Amino acid sequence: MPSRHRTVVVGASTGGFTTAESLRCNGYDGRITVVGEEPHRPYHRPPLSKQILAGEWALGDATITSAATTPALSIDLVLGTRATGLDTDRRTVKTTDGELSFDSLVIATGVSARRPARQYALAGFHTLRTLDDSTALTADLRGATHVLVVGAGVLGSEIAAVLAKRGLAVTLVGRSGSIRFGQTGSLLSSRVADLHETNGVRLLLALDVIRLLGTDRVTGAVLSDGSTVAADVVVAAVGSSPRVEWLAGSDLQLADGVVCDSAGRAAKDIYAVGDVARWSDTPGTHSARVEHQQNAIEQAHAVASTISTGIPHAPDIVPFFWSELYGTRIQAYGRFTGAGTLDVVAGDPAEGKFVGLASRDGTAVGVVGWNLPRAFRIARAQFTSGTADIGERQLAP
Ligand SMILES: Cc1cc2nc3c(=O)[nH]c(=O)nc-3n(C[C@H](O)[C@H](O)[C@H](O)COP(=O)(O)OP(=O)(O)OC[C@H]3O[C@@H](n4cnc5c(N)ncnc54)[C@H](O)[C@@H]3O)c2cc1C
Repeated sequence: MPSRHRTVVVGASTGGFTTAESLRCNGYDGRITVVGEEPHRPYHRPPLSKQILAGEWALGDATITSAATTPALSIDLVLGTRATGLDTDRRTVKTTDGELSFDSLVIATGVSARRPARQYALAGFHTLRTLDDSTALTADLRGATHVLVVGAGVLGSEIAAVLAKRGLAVTLVGRSGSIRFGQTGSLLSSRVADLHETNGVRLLLALDVIRLLGTDRVTGAVLSDGSTVAADVVVAAVGSSPRVEWLAGSDLQLADGVVCDSAGRAAKDIYAVGDVARWSDTPGTHSARVEHQQNAIEQAHAVASTISTGIPHAPDIVPFFWSELYGTRIQAYGRFTGAGTLDVVAGDPAEGKFVGLASRDGTAVGVVGWNLPRAFRIARAQFTSGTADIGERQLAP
């Protein structure tokens, strides 16, 4: 690898910064420039809807890297700068601060929170994706008593749980008739619903928000059945959009994210990692975008290995995520599409602690942990090695 080789990483968060660190760990001695539009040092997002929203952590506690370690790694961190275009022929990235030329480019621009409609510009309406979103939401919660959370997925559930724990009256509205909990689909729906109801969250499923009420500031919302919900603050967690707008007009293939092969290559010497990246599987028959922190980290390691060795590294990354609701740690590992049953292999659901093996047509496809992290780790290892045994006790969905 020539020492003048330069890697530019666009996106200074989990995927982007991990790629840069991993390049150095692999002995890469070229220049590394990481460009990020946010003014903050790279930080992890999971605490935004957990410890930070709960007021247990300061904003700085989510930081991935301190100002002291970055110079030691010789990573040029350019913050507050947005990439605005890519020229693959000239191998340059256009930014709000000028042009950067690269030998290798890593796209790690993540996703943005979907904002449903123009009317949602009302004060008191929030989404939660960034540290700045977190600061704005926390400030607005002061003096609030009623909160409406729109979107009963993982993020909406976490926000509802934390705000209920903070003593607010929380209504959680979901469009689907069951709670879709990330990759586990509706396998955990009734258990998550029970948790919300036990902890005082008013759960309204199979309903949508039609419009917000209020003139300058939100006062509530009208739902699809004509009923109204009063709220001082509304938080929407209704999905995301890949940040590919700056790649429009480039010759990369964009289709709900940056389309990549199984080693994360979008074009020669151009890679994408993390939430924005749509990697194909090894046979190249199926591609998916995965919005989990661990996925971004594993893809970053793989791409760093490919860049530093010149040998394409195409790992089989099995999706893994965790969440926390009212002190209950929920973990899931596997590919759950079409999984219809969950068999208890450890613990006891009646005691609020169990590990379940999800299966599709009698074949185990994933492991779910419910407040039993150690047994989850064991079951996950057994699942990975193909020695997991589908238990006798089936859990009703
Ligand atoms: C509130 C919240 C809670 C979460 N909780 C969990 C959890 O419990 N477990 C889990 O597994 N995952 C969780 N996630 C998901 C996890 O945080 C993501 O999978 C992870 O952040 C993906 O990292 P990334 O680097 O791909 O993208 P991001 O973290 O989105 O980073 C992309 C960065 O690129 C920047 N950027 C975008 N466009 C440009 C541009 N043109 N120029 C320069 N910079 C740009 C963005 O500003 C951003 O800083 C959570 C996410 C959120 C928002």
